[in-house]
Amino acid sequence: MGDASATANEPSFDGYDYDLITIGAGSGGVRASRTSAGLGAKVAICELPYHPISSETIGGVGGTCVIRGCVPKKILVFGSGFGADFEDSKNFGWDIKGEVRFDWKKLIENKTKEISRLNGIYKRMLAGSGVRLFEGEGKILDPHTVEVHELDGQVKRYRSKHILIATGSRAVHLNIPGKELAITSDEGLSLDEFPKRSVIVGGGYIAVEFAGIYNGMGGQVDLFLRKETPLRGFDEEMRAVVAKNLENRGVRLHPSTNLTRIEKGADGLHVFTDKGEEIVTDVVLFAVGRKPNTKRLSLQAVGVELDNQGAVKVNEYSQTNVPSIWAVGDVTNRINLTPVALMEGTCFSKTVFGGQPTKPDYTNVPCAVFCQPPLSVVGLTEQQAVDQAEDDVVIFTSTFTPMKNTISGRQEKTVMKLIVDSKSDKVLGAAMCGPDAPEIMQGIAVALKCGATKAQFDATVGIHPTAAEEFVTMRTSTRTVPASGRINKIKE
Ligand code: NDP
Repeated sequence: MGDASATANEPSFDGYDYDLITIGAGSGGVRASRTSAGLGAKVAICELPYHPISSETIGGVGGTCVIRGCVPKKILVFGSGFGADFEDSKNFGWDIKGEVRFDWKKLIENKTKEISRLNGIYKRMLAGSGVRLFEGEGKILDPHTVEVHELDGQVKRYRSKHILIATGSRAVHLNIPGKELAITSDEGLSLDEFPKRSVIVGGGYIAVEFAGIYNGMGGQVDLFLRKETPLRGFDEEMRAVVAKNLENRGVRLHPSTNLTRIEKGADGLHVFTDKGEEIVTDVVLFAVGRKPNTKRLSLQAVGVELDNQGAVKVNEYSQTNVPSIWAVGDVTNRINLTPVALMEGTCFSKTVFGGQPTKPDYTNVPCAVFCQPPLSVVGLTEQQAVDQAEDDVVIFTSTFTPMKNTISGRQEKTVMKLIVDSKSDKVLGAAMCGPDAPEIMQGIAVALKCGATKAQFDATVGIHPTAAEEFVTMRTSTRTVPASGRINKIKE
């Protein structure tokens, strides 16, 4: 445990330079460093220099979420939403005269200004917490030594009682001919010109979010899925809703289709598929997953074990097989979401410097996909519930036209779902695809964390008129599904 009396200005205990050196100043690394310093540890953090587009030698304080992930993505999602809003406003009496123009450069300029501001705020937060920032590349030489290659070319070595790896992940490229002509989400958030035509490959969060962004800004989007539907791992019913909404809003879906090569032509990039198609486009964006950033840390030399994806293997307390080395966030490839990295960072500090060994709790982690309209979920999918429960699973669904659409005429339904255990009456999962779904689901997540029953949902008074009130007024079940847990038990 750390010496609670040590502060950032005093030498650490046991002759170490620091109690903690964190490598990577993204969500998890910054949170762990600040909370550890708050518990009295002497802390330094090492991060690569800032730029909106990452590489092996470019990063930035704030990490993926702030610089080239959640924050800039949400700004672009806001930006792309106005197109539909202008259309929807007509039946509400608005008469927009003249040409409605969208200025991509202006939005990107303002987005970049905002993330630079946040980068500065994060640096000041670190300094304010007494955490020393080394700007440069960190490498682990032994279980207690970090070598920092600073921006000015200096190389320094520091001894630390504990080392925390929080280096995140980076987008991967498909290995096809012409792959160097494609971009990833990093560049997609910072393009000089708006892509009037884009080909997006992948069916995860990033693919469907970018499809919504470029489409909402008036671009033609072709989305290539190697499976039938996007968003593997989400509730099947909700996946189908997202696919339908994408198509209704004008995204061209290409299910079960793979790219075979990309070539450069005079009129743009030519994309070829395994179905014999050829599409001409301005941009090809790969959104086919991310890989943990572990390559340049020299972890193998120290003996830190990695899994077959290159992620750092950790125990329930985020400790690696080398006891003084820990890891949090996407580099561990557990649940790759900023709030989860924050939770892991806080638990790490409590465990190592707070005298309170604390495991992150991965139950009922809510999340949102910022497609348009957004999808948000918490708890189990219907299939997971059926696989895990021992009693019947009762499904409540509600599909309705949101009030705004009754006037705007937009042909798009909101879909909500509750998954309930028939024996305990506990709500096992909730999902919504519709306007404001993530804002609504955060409250539902609190209810699930408290173990709320369907009867308690029903006893809750609604807020009228909202879509959210539907979650407390779903009285009639849609279907009851026998749990395979029980069926398997009967078979035994
Ligand atoms: P995901 O892991 O979500 O999805 C990867 C997608 O790529 C899957 O649809 C997968 O298809 C597809 N894919 C993989 N290999 C190929 C291939 N060879 N050809 C075609 N398609 C392929 O990754 P993302 O890159 O979208 O996101 C990375 C992480 O970032 C996510 O895990 C998420 O946690 C996080 N994130 C969270 C966001 C949020 O909270 N809103 C937003 C953005 C990212 P298949 O299903 O067939 O395997």
